[in-house]
This record gives sequence, structure tokens and C-alpha cells, in this order.
Amino acid sequence: MESKSSSLIAYNVLEKRIIDSGFCTLCGACEAACPTSALQIRKEKVQRLHDCSEDLDLCPICYEICPHSEALLLRSLSFVADAPVKNEALGYYRKIVLAQAVDPKLREQSHGGAVVTSLLKYGIETKFFDSAIVSQTEPENPSKPKPAVALVPDDILSAIGSKFFPSSVAKAYGRAVYGHGKTSIAFVGVPCHVLALRKMEAWQHKIIDHLKITIGLFCFGTFSLNSLLDYIEEKYKIKPSEIKRLRVSSKFEVHTENGVTQIPMHDIEKHILPSCRTCTDFASELADISVGGAYPLPDWSTVIIRTKAGEDFFYDAVANGVINTWVIEQEPKVYERIIVAAMQKRTAALKQAKEMEEVYGYLPALMLRETDALAEIKIEDIMAKDITTIPQDMTVKQFLDYVAKHHHISYPMINKQGEAIGWVTLEEASSVPKSKRATTLVSEIARRKPVAAYTDENALDAFKRMSENETGRVLIFDRANPKKLVGIVTKTDLMHTLTK
Ligand SMILES: Cc1cc2nc3c(=O)[nH]c(=O)nc-3n(C[C@H](O)[C@H](O)[C@H](O)COP(=O)(O)OP(=O)(O)OC[C@H]3O[C@@H](n4cnc5c(N)ncnc54)[C@H](O)[C@@H]3O)c2cc1C
Ligand code: SF4
Ligand code: SF4
Ligand code: SF4
Repeated sequence: MESKSSSLIAYNVLEKRIIDSGFCTLCGACEAACPTSALQIRKEKVQRLHDCSEDLDLCPICYEICPHSEALLLRSLSFVADAPVKNEALGYYRKIVLAQAVDPKLREQSHGGAVVTSLLKYGIETKFFDSAIVSQTEPENPSKPKPAVALVPDDILSAIGSKFFPSSVAKAYGRAVYGHGKTSIAFVGVPCHVLALRKMEAWQHKIIDHLKITIGLFCFGTFSLNSLLDYIEEKYKIKPSEIKRLRVSSKFEVHTENGVTQIPMHDIEKHILPSCRTCTDFASELADISVGGAYPLPDWSTVIIRTKAGEDFFYDAVANGVINTWVIEQEPKVYERIIVAAMQKRTAALKQAKEMEEVYGYLPALMLRETDALAEIKIEDIMAKDITTIPQDMTVKQFLDYVAKHHHISYPMINKQGEAIGWVTLEEASSVPKSKRATTLVSEIARRKPVAAYTDENALDAFKRMSENETGRVLIFDRANPKKLVGIVTKTDLMHTLTK
């Protein structure tokens, strides 16, 4: 049995559940937040330099702020929860737009529209913030991210482009505060990095007072550095020092002086970090501004503006001629692709999480842990009553155009009598081959048995039914008239309710 002092020291749980179980993504938040400077990332691992229980009787910090623990999730969500739109796939937001750097040279160097680089450069030049946390690369190993505190525009320019290995950006954030004395910092990271910062904010950690703005990147996962580079060296005879650039498109591309080697994605998927397999956040749902690709448009990015602070900063940069924007509603393929990517990531993660719970005995960090409070809430008080339905004779092509304009990702399907007889999602519609979309009816792809609840049930009943059926929504019917659809409740509605 653990001694009292050891059970009150968060590091013991962090070590067992996160570090030794392989869930650490090396963000460095625990190192930055530790009050006794006991933790340090060394040789791709969090190490404890001294036994902190000799200094403190109780300390919950490192486990609670770790993005892979279940603590503080709802409080972290509250930082974006006042946005007007709640989208099941993309989280809370104010606006989604397409954007690109006005400077074509920046666009050439980035993986997308160089929006992040342009925003950071603009922010430093106008003194909107005094520094930015970016990920450059190690000179001797150009694939390896080197988290850095950018103080001048050149530091930002040398970090352009995506690096597909873990970057300890939260550690660099700590260095900006303690080492450089910075007081107004822009932070860029993948969703788990942003979550770590939001958890520090929820914890009211003193270093978070210096955070000015967070820019989150979309993320499908990162690779284990040594494991993937060893594989590339062994199989393709390319040494890490020879790699000039890595790119992810339909294949994984390794660029060297001798040309480009393409590796099928399924060959490298086994090198993705374990945490990424249970991560449900694709679109950096907690950032002020989230940025991702805009496939099939080559030099544009998709920008999701979530908070008022993000909106003011972004449109200031637009007004000052740094960024061009374009309406996403005019590019339904871009919208479809991000929604599908987000939904697929979430669905795969929820399935994987269940399996992992059996192996490890606990559930990795997933939203919606604090479910007991849901039993107190009546479904009819939280359901959306303004329901948009689609007729069963709509074609898949019409449905996809409709989705791009209306921004919901799934709709109840009704018959001629107005009864809900199924459920159609963007994910399923987009899997119909393009050549068949104009001739396939939504009724051919609809899920025929909608997951249902009744107005007299509570929000916990709705949540349980979602979990049992591995779906993110339930249709609400009137028990007196069970064919009458009266509302919809989604998982996002439940989270929204809990954050209140
Ligand atoms: C690991 C990873 C996975 C991604 N997966 C997807 C995806 O599946 N779909 C999608 O649409 N987009 C994905 N993206 C985002 C995409 O690659 C671009 O980063 C994003 O569209 C921003 O483009 P940009 O041209 O505006 O950025 P740029 O102007 O090129 O700036 C990129 C910024 O990202 C920072 N950065 C780079 N690598 C890292 C890293 N590993 N950790 C923290 N910060 C970093 C740099 O500091 C730089 O400031 C991923 C990014 C990463 C890092
Ligand atoms: S003192 Fe540091 S290592 Fe110890 S529990 Fe607290 S945060 Fe973790
Ligand atoms: S806080 Fe970050 S570095 Fe620390 S254990 Fe968690 S994921 Fe790893
Ligand atoms: S998939 Fe999730 S856990 Fe993995 S690097 Fe991206 S945000 Fe972090």
C-alpha cells in the first residue's frame, strides 16, 4: 500500500499512469508548472531530478495539468464555451474562414497558407505580444522539433512548417516566463499542448497570467521520434541528418538532397504515439484560434476563430493587409474534409479508449467524465427544439451542399408523414464515391434506427444511450406520441450544460 505522503504527491500517479504507460507526449507542462523544479524532460522522457515529497506533503499539480489526465477538463472547456456555435466535430467557435498569408514567399515554405507564421510575425512587429512559443528544428537532426521562445520576426520565420514529432512547447513557455521575463506570450501547439495550457489556466497557475493568445494546430497525431527515424534509416537507408523535410499528404514524404521518398501511411502508422490513438481533439478545440489544412486548396489554411480575443487579433491582422480570407461556404469540399477527419479521429479514439481501459484499468483523458451532475438535468431543458430535418428523397450530392451551407454535420431523415425514420451524417455521405452522389438517395445510406430518448428522461439517460450506441447524439421523442420528433441532444450540448 502507498504511504500517505506518496498518495498525496501527484508525481506518483503521473509516473504510473502517464509516463510509464507510454501516454506522455512530452509537452513539458509538468516541468514548467512544478513548484519544486523536480521535473525535467531529458532524452525524450520526463525524469524526476529529486524526490519532491521531501519538500512538500501534498502537491496535485503535475498530474492535474497533464493533458492526458482526466482532471480539469470541463473547466478548461469553459474558456471557449461562450462562442455562439457548438459543433459536434469542431467544438465551439465564432467563425470558420479560409485564410492565407499575403506574402507568397511564406506560403511557399509552409505546409499550408502560412497563416500561423504571418499572425505571429504581425503580433511581434506590432507588439501585440512580446514573444511567441514556436517549434524550430535541431540543426544536426532537421526532423527533430526544437521548442523556442521567439523574440524577433526571424525566430518566427525559422519555425515555419509542421514538424511531426513531439515538441516540448509548454516547457518553452515556462522558459519564456522564468528565463526571459516575458509577460505577454503567444503560444502555438497541437491540441494536447493547448489543453495543457488551458489546464494551467483552470488551475490558476501563476505562469499563465503571461499568456496572451493560443493558436492551436489541427492534429491527427505525432510520431515517436526514435522509432520512426530508426525505421526510415533501416528500411530506406536515409540517415536522420540527411532529411531536409518531412511532409504528410496522401503519403508520408521524406525529402532529401537526392529527391523525395514516399512511404505509404499505413507503414508508418505504427510509430504514432499511444496517446494519439485515444485523443479525441482534431481541431484544437480549446485554442483562441485553430489553424489546419484546407485540402484540396494547396496554399490556404482553414481558420477556426473561437474566442473574442482570437477574433479581434485575427481581424486586426486581416485589416492590416497581412492575411487574405475567403469564405469556406464557397468551398464545400474543404469543409467536408475537416469534419470527416475530426469525426473519424473521435470515433477511432473512443473505440480505442475502451480497449485501453481494459488493459490499463483507467480511461485516458476524454471529455465528459463528470457525468453524475447530468442526472439532475431534464432533457427537455437542454434539447435543441429548432430541428432541421432532411427528406428521405434528397440525393447525397444535395445533402453535401446543404451541410456546407448549414454547418450541422448530421440530420434526422423524415418520411412523407414527417416522422423521423433515420439519421444521415456527413461522415457516411462523404464515403459515397463522387460519381454516385447525384444518383444515391440519403435513404440508402441513412442509419435506420435513430438512437432515441424521451422528454421525461434526464441528461444522464441521453448520455448513456450515446455511449452504448457509440454516437454523439440522440433524437428526443414525446412519449405520448412516440413518432413525434421534438428535439435533439448532442454530446456537445451535454458538455455545454456541464460547463455552466
Ligand atoms: C503533428 C501535426 C499534425 C498535424 N495534422 C494535421 C491534420 O491531420 N490535418 C490538418 O489539416 N492539419 C494538420 N496539422 C496542421 C498543419 O500541418 C499546419 O501546421 C497548419 O495548417 C498551420 O499551417 P500554416 O501554414 O498556417 O502554419 P505555418 O505558418 O507553417 O506555421 C506552423 C507553426 O506550427 C508550429 N509547429 C510546427 N510543428 C509543431 C509541433 N510538432 N508542435 C507544436 N508546434 C508546431 C511552428 O512553430 C510554426 O509556428 C498538423 C500539424 C502538426 C504539427
Ligand atoms: S512537486 Fe512537482 S513533481 Fe512533485 S507532485 Fe508537485 S508538480 Fe509533481
Ligand atoms: S504534462 Fe506533458 S510532459 Fe508531463 S507527463 Fe504529461 S504529457 Fe508528458
Ligand atoms: S493526436 Fe492528440 S495527443 Fe497526439 S499529438 Fe495530436 S493532440 Fe497530442
